[in-house]
Amino acid sequence: MTTTTTETVTDFDARPIDPAVLAELRLADDAGRAPEAQHHAEGGAPLRCCLRRAEPGADLLLLSYAPLRRWAAETGADPGPYEELGPVFVHARAEDCPGAEPGYPVAMHRGDRVLRAYDRDGRILRGVPVQPDAELHREVLCALFSDPEVALVHVRAVEFGCFFHEVRRPVRAVRVGR
Ligand SMILES: [Zn+2]
Repeated sequence: MTTTTTETVTDFDARPIDPAVLAELRLADDAGRAPEAQHHAEGGAPLRCCLRRAEPGADLLLLSYAPLRRWAAETGADPGPYEELGPVFVHARAEDCPGAEPGYPVAMHRGDRVLRAYDRDGRILRGVPVQPDAELHREVLCALFSDPEVALVHVRAVEFGCFFHEVRRPVRAVRVGR
């Protein structure tokens, strides 16, 4: 397959959890619980506050996050029963978080992922399994967003189902040619 699109994976708007939402979550998570404090001597945990791997010796929080609920609060969507809660790691302190690097967080995706597409109401349209390869992520994102019904994509772990980050529909139109 050859594509005529000029998009690269870095053109996609992969989003960490919003800093204002993180400030709320560090007090009480989306399940209404206090987050669990963890010290990670070895590092490497995937962090949803900055879409990086934790540095050795990092102080982290493990907490429940409802990505679709938070997205819906911004967009006015009503995901209804599609809302889900799941565990995520974040830096324990905002001042220790360097924020996300620009571009697609390739280093986050060393394992198999599923790219799960949602419509503008937050209902699941489809999911596509993807191996750890930036080019494959790009191709699948291009294909998903070529469907005008797709408003949002969640990138999740295949085995654990954990949410990594969302990808919003690109501002520019995505063209996929063959
Ligand atoms: Zn962070």
